[in-house]
Amino acid sequence: MTLARYVYGVVCSILLIGTFSAAATAAAPHLTIAVDATDAPRRIFHAQLTIPASPGTLTLYYPKWIPGEHAPSGPVINLTGLKFTGNGQILKWRRALDDNWTVNVEVPAAVTEIHTSLDFVCATPEDATLFSSGASATNKLAIISWNQVLLYPKGPTADQVTFSPSVRFPSGWKYGTALQVASHTGDEVQFQPVSLYTLVDSPIITGEYFKLFPMNPGQEFPAEMDIAADSPADLLAPPEVWEHYQNVPKQAIALFGATHYRDYHFLYTLSDYVAHFGLEHHESNDSRTYERTMVDPEMRLLHASLLTHEYMHSWNGKYRRPADLTTPDYQQTMQDDLLWVYEGLTEYLGDVIAARSGLWDADQYRQNLSYVAAYMDHRPGRTWRNLQDTADSAAQLYYAPHQWDSWRRDTDYYDEGELDWLWVDSIIRQQSNGKKSIDDFCHIFHGAPHTPPMVKTYTFDDVVNTLNQVAAYDWRGFWNERLSNHGPGAPLGGIEGAGWKLVYDDVRSDYMRAWEDEHREVNASFSVGFIAGEDGVIEDTIEGMDAAHAGIGPGMKIVAVNGRRFTIQVLRDALAAGKNSKEPLQVIVENTDYFRTFNLDYHGGEKYPHLVREESKPDLLTDIVRAR
Ligand SMILES: [Zn+2]
Repeated sequence: MTLARYVYGVVCSILLIGTFSAAATAAAPHLTIAVDATDAPRRIFHAQLTIPASPGTLTLYYPKWIPGEHAPSGPVINLTGLKFTGNGQILKWRRALDDNWTVNVEVPAAVTEIHTSLDFVCATPEDATLFSSGASATNKLAIISWNQVLLYPKGPTADQVTFSPSVRFPSGWKYGTALQVASHTGDEVQFQPVSLYTLVDSPIITGEYFKLFPMNPGQEFPAEMDIAADSPADLLAPPEVWEHYQNVPKQAIALFGATHYRDYHFLYTLSDYVAHFGLEHHESNDSRTYERTMVDPEMRLLHASLLTHEYMHSWNGKYRRPADLTTPDYQQTMQDDLLWVYEGLTEYLGDVIAARSGLWDADQYRQNLSYVAAYMDHRPGRTWRNLQDTADSAAQLYYAPHQWDSWRRDTDYYDEGELDWLWVDSIIRQQSNGKKSIDDFCHIFHGAPHTPPMVKTYTFDDVVNTLNQVAAYDWRGFWNERLSNHGPGAPLGGIEGAGWKLVYDDVRSDYMRAWEDEHREVNASFSVGFIAGEDGVIEDTIEGMDAAHAGIGPGMKIVAVNGRRFTIQVLRDALAAGKNSKEPLQVIVENTDYFRTFNLDYHGGEKYPHLVREESKPDLLTDIVRAR
């Protein structure tokens, strides 16, 4: 998974995630589910299920731990209209007291199947709910996440329970999904039966303004983009953008050497009125961002690696998955301690593949990387919370507020992980005299043979042992140090080992300008040490830097700078002018109805990050992002 960045054992078990196989699962329950999505613009989805039953108590689950979200984020609060009938009688039910995702239904004698009707009410755009539980429908499009509209029986695994799914779409809306179609009647589509696992793994995107874009037509292991937008104009990206996306499957297959999907669907939602994130699946990803992302160069620069990140997860996260994150159903706790591999390596590879595909040029790749490095370089929370603890705390940290972000730390194992995996790549290249790279690790760890969707679990030891297969090194010592390191500052060994160094100056890169424009914020993290919105409200201060040292904190509102009413431009001008002045930077702040004046003895000017060449070392970074 990814959220738009705000500063943004040795024993392997293999689980075959098959499509429905009658022979293998004859004894396991088979359910039907019919979703009526015609009310999507009202943000309510209706579902009817038939569930095999026998007299007594039937325990049903609403999915709680959502794969890829790394948290018990199943939106049970939005499960409504729940009713059960058997042989025409209304059945009694009660929720379990120790788990609100569990429902017990009393099934009377002679009833062999119960009928369930339910509604899922979807978050509105104003609702701050995150990820797939967030806003998922507009007047012109919707995303259907199956985990939100179903219940399943306790007992069998998610791979054993099977469903025959169908959807009625709003009139004339098109759709995209990794599910295979059985039959089509008007706006009603019956899909092939699949396991519960595959169903939850196969969301549907639907909309009036829809574009199906084949990425590698006529080739083995086809991939396509299924894009729904709020306006037809959002789909009019320049030709080179489509060409760059066409490079993505080729570059990914070159990186890994094999796929673990039959065909792949990039389900891409372009809307200002849905939650923005990306969520991975074996054969698709559900990625959602701003309406104008495909057509606006600044937005393309910021979001170039959203789809590539989620696509990398088909290999790293879905096919290869931490053993303790792999659970038989959605009720058991998914443990997050290896997310520095699951998300950290994916973040590195997603950015590299974006550059190898041309979605970023080499300079744009470095602009993004310099920001990641500078961001981690201003995370004083590293002094108390190490990388391992950010992963261990993931289920909480995904929901942390932005205030105090740099001191609390958030899910920045994406960012620290990216820097560390670049470090790994540079060490492999050095240890092998340039003969091996991260590509060789990916070939062994994630590659051949080609398979349909399946899970091959791994542990910390498997990561270390595979790295040693590629290039001998003290990888166990390396990762133990990286996971427990407390800085200060960012882990920059990868950037330096790749022949570059992080510097700060008063020139904003295109990336930082786009970042500040999109967030409507000024990012003074690297100068006086705060981030503030265009309304002056301070979102975060960096402990130890001038603003925090003076007494300014998150939630306060900057009213004036050097005597003039605050705007982002007024602040930026004052920071620049302070470089040639002995006068302090005067900041007037409103805090809980009181006004205070702070004088910051800061004369460093504006500061923004860049990477510059370290000429004494070979330039590995340019080779890392070269198209294969
Ligand atoms: Zn991810």
